[in-house]
Amino acid sequence: MHGVDGRVAWLFAILWLPLAAAADTSPGSPSTGPSDGRAVELLSHELAVTLIPARHQLLATDRITLKALSPQFQQVSFSLNRALRVTRIQQRRGADLLPLAFTVQAPGTRPEGMAEREASLSGGEEQAQWVTVRVAAPAGSDRTLTMEWSYEGVIHDPPREPRHLRFVTPSETAGHIGSEGVYLSGETHWYPDVPGARPSYRVRVTTPEGWEAVTQGQQRHKQVSGTSGDRSVTADWEVTVRTEALTLVANRFVKASREWHPPSGDKIEVAAYLFPDDAQLADEYLDASIQYLEAYTKLLGPYPFPKFAVVENFFASGLGMPSFTLLGSGVVKRHYVQPFALGHEIVHSWLGNWVFNDPGTGNWVEGLTTYLANYYYDELTGKAEQAREQRRMMLLGYAVYVRPDTDYPVGRFRRKSDQKDNAIGYQKAAMVFHMLRREIGDEAFWAGVRKLVADYGSSSAAWGDLERVFAETARRDLRWFFAQWVEGAGAPSLSIAEAVTSGDGVPGGMITLRVRLTQVGAAYRLRLPLAVKVEGGTVHATMVAMDSADQVFTLSVPARPLSLQVDPDFETFRRLAREQLPPMLNLFVTDQERSMVPPAGGTEAERAPYQDLVARLASEKGGQEAGQKPVRAHATDQDAAVARGSVLILGGPGVNRAADWAARGCGSGVSLGRDRFTVDGHTYEGPGMALLLSCRHVDRPDRVVTLFYGLTPPAAATVARLLFFYGWQSYLVFRDGTVVARGDFSSPSERLEVLFGEGSG
Ligand SMILES: [Zn+2]
Repeated sequence: MHGVDGRVAWLFAILWLPLAAAADTSPGSPSTGPSDGRAVELLSHELAVTLIPARHQLLATDRITLKALSPQFQQVSFSLNRALRVTRIQQRRGADLLPLAFTVQAPGTRPEGMAEREASLSGGEEQAQWVTVRVAAPAGSDRTLTMEWSYEGVIHDPPREPRHLRFVTPSETAGHIGSEGVYLSGETHWYPDVPGARPSYRVRVTTPEGWEAVTQGQQRHKQVSGTSGDRSVTADWEVTVRTEALTLVANRFVKASREWHPPSGDKIEVAAYLFPDDAQLADEYLDASIQYLEAYTKLLGPYPFPKFAVVENFFASGLGMPSFTLLGSGVVKRHYVQPFALGHEIVHSWLGNWVFNDPGTGNWVEGLTTYLANYYYDELTGKAEQAREQRRMMLLGYAVYVRPDTDYPVGRFRRKSDQKDNAIGYQKAAMVFHMLRREIGDEAFWAGVRKLVADYGSSSAAWGDLERVFAETARRDLRWFFAQWVEGAGAPSLSIAEAVTSGDGVPGGMITLRVRLTQVGAAYRLRLPLAVKVEGGTVHATMVAMDSADQVFTLSVPARPLSLQVDPDFETFRRLAREQLPPMLNLFVTDQERSMVPPAGGTEAERAPYQDLVARLASEKGGQEAGQKPVRAHATDQDAAVARGSVLILGGPGVNRAADWAARGCGSGVSLGRDRFTVDGHTYEGPGMALLLSCRHVDRPDRVVTLFYGLTPPAAATVARLLFFYGWQSYLVFRDGTVVARGDFSSPSERLEVLFGEGSG
């Protein structure tokens, strides 16, 4: 399915992004520092970890350095995975090691005297237990004390299949050590930790020979030891960028790396840790990584970590950690190097893994990352048409997935769990940054982005901080902008109420065009591009400022206007009404009421390719949209025609009697046969052809009727599996499963366009 075309690739972006999103918000959430009444600050870990995959086992020591913030403290509580057993804790005093008494809290309970707030962990609560250590207060003037832990246990939680079809959460395992791979994250609690701590780390990892461990920071050295047949590899890692959660992975990687020399600063190691089967992809990932690092260093400032690595994972994931990204094997094999994929992960190095979201407020990180990676890379590389299409898709995503009654403000988005969250927190938020850039200009916008990274690196920022930064670089108040686009839900809904010309016929004179624009509901403050096409073909572009619900603009053009279009290039975020969108499968998918007509004619072999789809739709107990009803099955087109919602018809003429009815809403440009079909002026025939066609419902134009059929059973079967990836267009023609033609039945009202007829005025 990869490589079919750009559109399909774009859909994979939606499919895979949530993984990164969730990764940003959990391990990276910053602490509030030790100023919240805690008695100690955890400064550093020196971990020595032996991983024994065959036995799911971990053996570890950890030298922890703490700083006393209050001279009277007597005990400290640490979180640690409940499957790990502490064998010894000692305190270093000069040259001596003194044993310390400790108590282990029963799982699910917290130490006496510890407030619930203090005990709050940033994930994996159910994995953790509390270990409380009694200490002798440090005598030294620097008030630091060092304790040495020894602990061991089995971490065995094999990754489960993702629970959701579209949105995979990263916590399908709370940590795993096994022959298929090792994954230990902040949620695993694989080392003793104090909530809210942001220490530095040194990690010595020992694995069987042939295995390689990867963590944050930089690898210092590596050596092989032991006797033949029982050799092990020990690698030392240093993590100087303080972080709340350390992720450690290990597998039988083939490592490839290069040195990248940024325009300023030290060299950066760019590495790929791939499975032997995929090792030949390393160059592709290294080339793309360096290309993105170069581009985004110019936009965002120096890269904040000593390395960047693409690491292949043994379960499906798209996790972004400081200095590396952990990508599921399936994703790696699909050449995940596009801007929306690897580019997005790399932008998270600055946004999300360096500047964090303020955990108490909304998530702006995904919107800005999506804008810079998924969208802006096209602009940056001169692909204006693709950039325009991205903007259109952002408006379409919102129109299709966000119903006005379930909408919420961009500022309230935290993390994505469905398509609606994606449309608000990623797509609308990205458009908010686009409009901000247009509002304050490129210079102030990019200065603001760099200032944000420079001022908030290694700490967190909230929407309010962004407002302050951009107001400063733009040297103007932006309160109205953030109130309108970040704090308010919804989007402007525009229409052209009137467009009339006068002054026609005066030789050499200008023609006046009077345009009345209206907004339904709350009036937004907008800067709207208008494009007037005049006789002779030239287009006159102008910008108008709208700030009320009903406003008249007067334009002068040198020749008789042929058409007027408002915001022709989708520069303004607005709501496209469902009935104005081109008919498409996604309008069926998101309709509150849906029906289908399964194939009832033809032979069993002719009906077979559709049976999985029929079963899948029939088993849906209401879709992902709130309030959506289960899909109803109808026997005939007459039943479907009187059903209230949108309709999906499976099987073509001869196999489904409703097929011809489906095409009626598309008018005379479409005709269907058993061995050929015509759409948009082209006729297609041959055994490999299949058609996915959506038309307006003849009687209810706010609904769609979608038809899917192949000219032969194999032609239908190849597409059927992936049908719902093709939701965004009015028709798609497939040959042997590959898209060969596509298009939209768009309407002037979707385009916010008025056509001036002959002699109009
Ligand atoms: Zn992301």
